[in-house]
Amino acid sequence: APNVRRKGNPKMLFMGLRRSGKSSIQKVVFEKLSPADTLFLEPTSRIGTVKMQSFITFESVELPHQLSATTPDFDHHAVFSHIGAVIWVLDVQDEYLTSISEMIQTAVFLAENYPRVNFEVFIHKTDGLSEEYKYETFREVRQRVQDELSDLGHGDRSVSYFQTSIFDHSIFEAMSKVVQRLLPQLPAMEALLNKLCSTCGIQKAYLFDTMSKIYVATDASPTFLKDYEVCSDYVDVIVDIKQIYGWHGQDGEGKAVSERRNQDDGDIGESMVTYDRSGDTYIYAREINDYLSLICVMGKGSTTNKRVLIDYNVGILHDALLQVFKV
Ligand code: GDP
Repeated sequence: APNVRRKGNPKMLFMGLRRSGKSSIQKVVFEKLSPADTLFLEPTSRIGTVKMQSFITFESVELPHQLSATTPDFDHHAVFSHIGAVIWVLDVQDEYLTSISEMIQTAVFLAENYPRVNFEVFIHKTDGLSEEYKYETFREVRQRVQDELSDLGHGDRSVSYFQTSIFDHSIFEAMSKVVQRLLPQLPAMEALLNKLCSTCGIQKAYLFDTMSKIYVATDASPTFLKDYEVCSDYVDVIVDIKQIYGWHGQDGEGKAVSERRNQDDGDIGESMVTYDRSGDTYIYAREINDYLSLICVMGKGSTTNKRVLIDYNVGILHDALLQVFKV
């Protein structure tokens, strides 16, 4: 069967024109390169793989532009049969009609040969564009692609579009959504987070992969960009603190973060801080294991004064999540 892929380990293939930003995205998300340092990346000329070992293995592959899905004599089976998603990167600051036509060829090729591979479009390098221009180009690209796919008889092919930039949170949010669609554990994780939020009156809960800053699940309540950004920034804080003290901290050392250590679970880092001036909103952070962090936004309605209840319920969530990921 042409559609085999190992479940559970999200594997993504980046495609797009030369210098559209494929390497930069992978380096920034999976190798923690600072965005400014991508300026002088060497162009990719061979198929390159980046792996990040976390609670699961994230694997991303980049197809150099001279190879396309329809290049003759190119063993596409070796490339496409193992991936979960193709991410097409389109440089919106450049002339993009060529990119669109190649993107459509690729989408059609996938629809006909590997229909189970998700097709995701990153309308990339949106930094520095006016809101209006951003909105217009997004609409135009999406409309063109949909129209042409319909004309070619693939109008039912679902394609997701994201506006991205490596200079803000958008690239992490887009990558999170791409990864989530590849995780068989997603429904279980979402159900657990929904339960936690309703029990404790939590506004929003994110389960982050600490290293990549990709969130692997969130509850069903509406997402506000500000909440997401604050939580995402908090993950950076956790990583920094971990590097300095270690969540676990040898006796005494880690007290700044490990306010409490649970005897049964071993060492668990946990913290609660306010993040707005009024002091009405809190960020609650708790490490699930070495790789996963739970970050919650709690407002007035939350049971912030009932810390014990929250700790208890997060403890239950913690155990359930470990079950979900038990191999
Ligand atoms: P690739 O050939 O597709 O792998 O492209 P690269 O990753 O080498 O990126 C080409 C150029 O685009 C580099 O100079 C990057 O700094 C730049 N670039 C990548 N992402 C962004 C972005 O989000 N915004 C802006 N303004 N530039 C970007």
